[in-house]
Amino acid sequence: MSSVTLRGTPSPVPVSKIICVGRNYAAHAKEMKAEIPEQPVLFLKPPSAILHDGGTIVIPKISRDLHHEVEMTVLIGRGGKNIDEHSALSHVAGYGVGLDMTLRDVQSEAKKKGLPWTLAKGFDTSAPLSEFVPAAAISDPHALEVELRVNGAVRQRGNTSSFIFRLERLISLISTHFTLEKGDVIFTGTPEGVAQAVPGDTLEATLRTPGGTPLSLLTVRIGQA
Ligand code: MG
Repeated sequence: MSSVTLRGTPSPVPVSKIICVGRNYAAHAKEMKAEIPEQPVLFLKPPSAILHDGGTIVIPKISRDLHHEVEMTVLIGRGGKNIDEHSALSHVAGYGVGLDMTLRDVQSEAKKKGLPWTLAKGFDTSAPLSEFVPAAAISDPHALEVELRVNGAVRQRGNTSSFIFRLERLISLISTHFTLEKGDVIFTGTPEGVAQAVPGDTLEATLRTPGGTPLSLLTVRIGQA
């Protein structure tokens, strides 16, 4: 079973499911020519899509346009159904950074035809995840910077203070649709600057404190099937 690492915890945490939020930054919704949603857009990735630090993203043969989306990620520590917003953050075990790798050409075709995004979003290696930092070590999860460098150059940078839907609302709402379980991972949406990644590229994602101290790092490469 696919698992992730929570810093300070000796054994890996098995992942039950991965829930992703689309369009949680206004500037990204704009660059995708999409409306700012009244409700979060949700989709799933299978846990088999997880890739760890140091791994290689393999572009499937069905695509010629792989895009990166850097996102703050949340590891659920305590499950629940219909979680209320006031207690939502107490269900979080840790925070990290991840890449919601997307086959943009396959997704665009699916959008046009009204088909699901599963192939565009859930392929093997589409969910690179960093080590998670214990929630107790983070005073305000809505004041964290996420950054992505490609071959050393900054491509995406955002701050979780710009979320359209804050974590309390996301966790509460997600738990009305999907019972949250220990080991579930949430991708919280990407800031602007999504773009193509090609074989040979090195992607470095960072989660930082408001003061600029790196909390968690993720480095992966791009390869071709
Ligand atoms: Mg995304």
